[in-house]
Amino acid sequence: MTEISAASEEDRFASAGMRLIVDLTALTENWRDMARRSKRARASAVVKADAYGMGIEDAGEALYIAGARDFFVATVDEGVTLRLYAPDARIFVLAGIWPGTERRFFENDLVPVISSEEQLAFWMAVLSEYGDYPCALHVDTGFNRLGLHIDEALALADDVSRPASFAPVLVMSHLACGDDPSSQMNKQQLESFRKVSAAYEGIESSLAASGGIFLGEDYHFDLTRPGIAIYGGEAVSGMANPMRPVATAQARVIQVRTVRAGESVSYGRTLRLDRDSRLAVVSAGYADGYMRSQSSGGIPLRQAVPQGGQGFFEGYTVPVAGRITMDLSIFDVTDLPENLIRAGDYIELFGRNIPVDDAARAAGTIGYEMLAGVGLRYERKYVSEE
Ligand SMILES: *Cc1c(COP(=O)(O)O)cnc(C)c1O
Repeated sequence: MTEISAASEEDRFASAGMRLIVDLTALTENWRDMARRSKRARASAVVKADAYGMGIEDAGEALYIAGARDFFVATVDEGVTLRLYAPDARIFVLAGIWPGTERRFFENDLVPVISSEEQLAFWMAVLSEYGDYPCALHVDTGFNRLGLHIDEALALADDVSRPASFAPVLVMSHLACGDDPSSQMNKQQLESFRKVSAAYEGIESSLAASGGIFLGEDYHFDLTRPGIAIYGGEAVSGMANPMRPVATAQARVIQVRTVRAGESVSYGRTLRLDRDSRLAVVSAGYADGYMRSQSSGGIPLRQAVPQGGQGFFEGYTVPVAGRITMDLSIFDVTDLPENLIRAGDYIELFGRNIPVDDAARAAGTIGYEMLAGVGLRYERKYVSEE
């Protein structure tokens, strides 16, 4: 019994159906790069969604060691976990605070991001009961997702009757089109946010996520909030991605089969083979975040890359063959030298050789979704350069 359960992490990794290799050196280099690009502003690290699928414990700790002292998480739970790895960092919780969660905020020294009138009212009540505690204010400048209405935020800044215990340490807003430098929306939001920042003079302000950092210093204010760029994804559409790839996802080949010309592959027979072929079946499918929409042949809704997704094996790019299924996907390995690929080998789904954003485009989505979707079934391994 004990011997079986004592299988080492190394063994589990060596035999995993799907595995994710996270390059912590690339991660921290990317963060330092974003910190440099933030110029006079300080760079935080956004680690929501389990650090974009990379694992908040290891990614958070590496970023902390690299020097990050401001973090943004989505939920209280993420904040509580991160606190163990970032002992004296400032941790902002983007979802804000809810009745019943105050204690967890206080006990773990988490800063709620107040982003609606209701939250603000609740927060004022909390302060009157417990006394001084920092918060951040999220002000909407056109995104219409979260944030106080700009007029409310400006009125609050001027409100002499607000309690002295109300002590925001940050005012922030979020760009709707930060990935598109040509969008007029960026300038409009910048103008609005300047008013907010001026009204809260003496309090730090933050507008730019990854894309906003590339828009230039006007957008940086005091604190930047890079997420996707740290994880190696594209922050600006249409620009060559300067970041280092962080995640490599691989799936194990279960079998390699020989199929004759004229036969079809997978559900719906969307792919008909026009030559004798060899197909590698791997143990990853849409239940593992390897999205069905990057199937090859005849799946509607996919405009960007009509030929479907691609994998990579020992110098060769291998196309997805037919529909991706729940737990399994099929790659055409006919062009590889015979016997080069065998059961037990691993095909890269994205990573060093297939940029995550290319895989995402083939699925009709963005790198963010691809990264966040690499679920718990992936055996993770963290590597770093010595
Ligand atoms: C997700 C998020 C970020 C990080 O965005 P990226 O585009 O991944 O850099 C920053 N701020 C807020 C409010 C967010 O929700």
